[in-house]
Amino acid sequence: MHPSRWGDPARATALPDTARGLIEMVFGLDERPALPEVSVPAPAVEPALLTELAETLGAEHVLTDDDIRRLRTGGKSTPDLLRQRAGDLDDAPDAVVRPGTHDDVAAVLAWAVKHHVAVVPFGGGTSVTGGLAARRDGFAGLVSLDLIRMKRLLEVDHTSMTATLEPGLRGPEAEALLAAEGLTLGHFPQSFEYATIGGFAATRSSGQSSAGYGRFDALVVGLRVATPSGEVSLGSAPANAAGPDLRQVFLGSEGAFGVITAVTVRVRRVPAEKVYEGWRWPSFVDGAAAMRTLAQAGLLPTVIRLSDESETAINLARPDEIGGQSAGGCMMITGYEGEPEAVAAKRAAVTAVLSGLGGESLGEEPGASWAKGRFDAPYLRDSLLDVGVLVETLETATFWSNMDALYAGVRAALEGSLGEGTMVLCHISHVYETGCSLYFTVAQKAAEDSLSQWLAAKAAACDAITEVGATITHHHAVGTDHKPWLAAEIGGIGVSVLRAVKADLDPSGVLNPGVLIP
Ligand SMILES: Cc1cc2nc3c(=O)[nH]c(=O)nc-3n(C[C@H](O)[C@H](O)[C@H](O)COP(=O)(O)OP(=O)(O)OC[C@H]3O[C@@H](n4cnc5c(N)ncnc54)[C@H](O)[C@@H]3O)c2cc1C
Repeated sequence: MHPSRWGDPARATALPDTARGLIEMVFGLDERPALPEVSVPAPAVEPALLTELAETLGAEHVLTDDDIRRLRTGGKSTPDLLRQRAGDLDDAPDAVVRPGTHDDVAAVLAWAVKHHVAVVPFGGGTSVTGGLAARRDGFAGLVSLDLIRMKRLLEVDHTSMTATLEPGLRGPEAEALLAAEGLTLGHFPQSFEYATIGGFAATRSSGQSSAGYGRFDALVVGLRVATPSGEVSLGSAPANAAGPDLRQVFLGSEGAFGVITAVTVRVRRVPAEKVYEGWRWPSFVDGAAAMRTLAQAGLLPTVIRLSDESETAINLARPDEIGGQSAGGCMMITGYEGEPEAVAAKRAAVTAVLSGLGGESLGEEPGASWAKGRFDAPYLRDSLLDVGVLVETLETATFWSNMDALYAGVRAALEGSLGEGTMVLCHISHVYETGCSLYFTVAQKAAEDSLSQWLAAKAAACDAITEVGATITHHHAVGTDHKPWLAAEIGGIGVSVLRAVKADLDPSGVLNPGVLIP
């Protein structure tokens, strides 16, 4: 991936004419010329230490060249991209090390403890919460532990319907290996093309088909983890009562407790049929009530998403048509995947409920359009930053009874911080019997110091989320960006439990220092 943009440079998309027209009208165009590339700070770690590591891993797997270190600097949040665009490479690792096996990972950790070097596990580098921005002060250096060589499908159990995957497999690579066995994982976050199996587990990711397949943490049945204190292997039965579920200690641990070296997941058969369609609702409140009804009736489709009035008005769910003619009201996308008879039965039952509640079917065209562009929106963010528009997303979740307060609170906080003319768009993309997540997209004309402009707005939104008692993150994880709000959510004793686990598994604190734990 390009260090300061999303994805494959060959797929970079210009703003569609309709979107460009909309931006020009609302914010004005302010083309920002690309800045010349800045050089990466020289590695600060003693070369002799790297030579020692090279003897274990092989010299070709201990890299210090500028290009690879630049590519392993930070993640892909808008602040990360703005820092890279401004030539701020302070978070660059001194070296990128590439273990090939669990034992290699254990050897890197032993080396790091011996020499007090900080280690940042790196999967796909798509973190949007500063999960790759570890602290380096007090350490002899900082290395990126790049899992790119660990890409095997280790085992498939067709009887139990489980598969064991190595952490460095990106979404499409994992799906291709499983497809050869007639299987799918069904985990499709918007970052699917670049994020990895280890990253999904380490951040408790949630995909666009979460209503049908479940969040990533719900798919995990077992884990193998290398920690500075030794190996942990968990998951010997489909369910157990053997004390607290320790898999949950490592799911969402963001590289602070250990390096996940294998993940055993529940898998499904590749669906024979996939159908997506659109619905229109008079209002966000009506559409959300319909989602709640489906969830509480046990009738959720595989995909269900609902855009609010503002998001529908600019067609965000259909990246090719942003700024074009909108259907009006609030757009819902529903999707069904499975055997044809099961798809037909579920679709008929959901259709009856949605029609009965006042939804208007728009047929399959909007669904097909959403499915075609479902991984494209991140490319548009780069095009918007190029023309001087500050754009970023944030997410949270709450119970149904608190949804309206959360929606209003976050919207008011963002508008209050970013000022008149701010575009605040929202959709619901993950629903449960008891509640849902809200995902906001925010746009405003970029100020001279757009990084500070966004950090102030994000802090205001996080305060509002905390004030209404919602979660600081439903699926993006804590990283460094959400850390100041974590204690309010889990309490002082919750923080000390996390610190105790850290002290036990990583007593010298070399793993991702400063990430996750307040
Ligand atoms: C455009 C865009 C769209 C996104 N859409 C979604 C979405 O739809 N749903 C969603 O859930 N998230 C989404 N994200 C967030 C991000 O993709 C997820 O957090 C993802 O799960 C991270 O995976 P990764 O492999 O890129 O991990 P990285 O970014 O490399 O790492 C994330 C964190 O996990 C740690 N880590 C990585 N691998 C391991 C390992 N093997 N063992 C221990 N720790 C490890 C890292 O140290 C870091 O703290 C999106 C991000 C972007 C930029």
